[in-house]
Amino acid sequence: TKPIDRPVPRAGVLDIAAYVPGKSKATGGTKLYKLSSNETPLGPSPKAIEAYRAAADNLEFYPDGSASALRAAIAEAHGIKAERIICGAGSDEILNLIAHAYIGPGDEAIYTQHGFLVYPIAIRASGGIPVVAPEKDFTTYVDAIIDRVSEKTRVVFVANPNNPTGTYVPFSEIRRLHAALPPRVLLVLDAAYAEYVRRNDYESGIELVGQSSNVVMARTFSKIHGLAALRIGWMYGPPEVVDALNRIRGPFNVSAPAIAAGAAALSDRAHVESAVAHNEEWLPRVTYALEGLGLQVTPSVANFVLIHFPGTKGKTAAEADDYLLSHGIVLRRVASYGLPDALRMTIGTAEANEATIAALRHFMHGAG
Ligand code: PMP
Repeated sequence: TKPIDRPVPRAGVLDIAAYVPGKSKATGGTKLYKLSSNETPLGPSPKAIEAYRAAADNLEFYPDGSASALRAAIAEAHGIKAERIICGAGSDEILNLIAHAYIGPGDEAIYTQHGFLVYPIAIRASGGIPVVAPEKDFTTYVDAIIDRVSEKTRVVFVANPNNPTGTYVPFSEIRRLHAALPPRVLLVLDAAYAEYVRRNDYESGIELVGQSSNVVMARTFSKIHGLAALRIGWMYGPPEVVDALNRIRGPFNVSAPAIAAGAAALSDRAHVESAVAHNEEWLPRVTYALEGLGLQVTPSVANFVLIHFPGTKGKTAAEADDYLLSHGIVLRRVASYGLPDALRMTIGTAEANEATIAALRHFMHGAG
């Protein structure tokens, strides 16, 4: 055999398909409506922007490596202990840290059929084997997860609500899943969209984390708080899990402006409530309007909807995407999530929502 003449990534790395984010530009149109990445149309709290700007006065100093001020603010807002929180550069980093700490070569980790693509990437990057549990009606199906637990299972990732489907499972189902898992399996509840859910049978998982030694909850400032650009996520978990992640994270993984802006965002409850109210108003309106066009929409509890296209010639998701892009509207292609005939639309401003509905009416039914 030929000697290797250049550095080669270790086995498996080049089998990973890189995460491709939603587009941020259209191909035409006079105005850009970016509804591709579940960002809030309200933007961040003015208090967060102010704190971010103030942090710019001290850029020569390293941030507090333990993000104490942010953890204290999170702890207070959620009634939990700061020692049991770890912050990261987005919840993406948290998910990666979990995988790196708990999954090794040959280990298995389970996620759901249309689950967030960072899960399989993080599992593979750790040398693990992703195991996919089928969903039912685009919704997490707990029995399918339980069926796939093996001797090798180390972690189960469940996004509730799920992205890109927008569906959720009642917390009783999460409890049933937890009860069925061996205590050595870490259950990761990804509650990135928790604030948007207005259902009595929904819980993000705080109580269960408090009661268990094998459950963590991941959260983000990218969605309801409108701080996606700053990359702030966090995890609440048992002390042992928090300790493990603290050992392997970058020493200054959350920047000083992010720490300041995140803490300020949490102090602005009114802003969060406006974002929730806007979504509560527009989620059903958008769903109803799209259904009125003859499109199937998966019932969502989050700040986005999954729109299913007929898939026949002239009416495919790809054609709809091209049409919308040429009119300045950017939705998310979700073929990489196993949904080739669907697009995901973030709930935007009134203007963006109406423009998208009008464009889709034209796409589906022509000018008439
Ligand atoms: N989990 C889910 C389910 C998501 O949809 C996202 C954002 N697309 C994330 C985690 C990651 O968010 P961030 O890294 O911005 O915190």
